[in-house]
Amino acid sequence: MTDEFDTDVYYDDDADSSQIDNKTVAVLGYGSQGHAHAQNLDESGVDVIVGLREGSSSRDAAEADGLAVATPKEAASEADIVSVLVPDTVQPAVYEDVRSELDAGDTLQFAHGFNVHYGQIEPAEDVDVTMIAPKSPGHLVRRNYENGEGTPGLLAVYQDATGEAKQEALAYGKAIGCTRAGVVETTFREETETDLFGEQAVLCGGISELIKIGYETLVDAGYSPEMAYFECMNEMKLIVDLMYEGGLGAMWDSVSDTAEYGGLTRGEAIVDDTARENMEEVLEQVQNGEFAREWIAENQAGRPSYRQRRIAEKNHEIEDVGERLRELFAWSEEEQETEPSENDDEKERVTADD
Ligand code: NAD
Ligand code: MG
Repeated sequence: MTDEFDTDVYYDDDADSSQIDNKTVAVLGYGSQGHAHAQNLDESGVDVIVGLREGSSSRDAAEADGLAVATPKEAASEADIVSVLVPDTVQPAVYEDVRSELDAGDTLQFAHGFNVHYGQIEPAEDVDVTMIAPKSPGHLVRRNYENGEGTPGLLAVYQDATGEAKQEALAYGKAIGCTRAGVVETTFREETETDLFGEQAVLCGGISELIKIGYETLVDAGYSPEMAYFECMNEMKLIVDLMYEGGLGAMWDSVSDTAEYGGLTRGEAIVDDTARENMEEVLEQVQNGEFAREWIAENQAGRPSYRQRRIAEKNHEIEDVGERLRELFAWSEEEQETEPSENDDEKERVTADD
């Protein structure tokens, strides 16, 4: 452990593999996270059973990878640790299916806190409830492990029935490669609320609106859609890569003085105090459960609003322009770090006919 940060960070030496060596882990789901956790655990010498529904096409993938496969309920009955890696929206139903198989002292293990934090899953008092959440998509969790590298992750303990929940979670984190890179301790509440806020306000929601409004402003003023696409969408990656490597400083150092002065003086006029107030409102809806209730109800209703919004986004002109331009340029042929689509419950694709 290091005191370099405010939060505790754990590495391989802090984890005791004997906490998991003789245990069996049921990995429920074989999608992005599931395939990576299952294979990494297996190669770390932990007994793994992948839990998938009869008829799930992920079964073939898991078997081809040399793993034992059973139904979620059968897998859970064999397991000491049940790692819940099906999509968040189906976790409550899968939990109902397997809950009777959780014995006292077993562990429910998550990679995201939504269902526990918002009370959609209410575990019995005699089980440990932990989280190891890699801060990366599953295919990188797998690739990094294979390369001998690690993937940073978060650790949280929601319920410690055995007194060993944290040590066991650390051993799980070690077995999937996270403690090679560093594991930061947090809580289910903090992980869930910061994750939702980040994706809504900044990462997915905020940035896509910023790009679209920038694009529309240029096109509405008579500039060509191609130029608007390059300036507002394509160059985003170059800027974000610089921030990723060296923070805002590396970005400002790399752009021209003109860009730096213009950005420093104009940026705060665009994302102004109204944006700050809006972010506070979005955070409040995350904290008071309003967003969670809305999303749960949306799923129960068959996702009508979600579908509609996905179609509208797909039909935005910038998507057509981008598709054409990406085909014309060599950079689109670089190896893309996208998800392998090997699971049967992939997001429904929005097609042009929608
Ligand atoms: P995913 O959508 O990639 O995988 C879904 C898997 O669950 C598939 O194998 C599918 O066959 C299976 N499945 C779907 N419905 C099922 C059902 N009713 N019964 C049994 N199996 C079913 O999911 P994911 O993105 O790996 O997410 C899993 C968890 O990991 C979530 O809690 C998510 O928040 C968390 N997480 C994801 C990422 C990421 O980058 N994808 C990162 C960190 C944490
Ligand atoms: Mg996230």
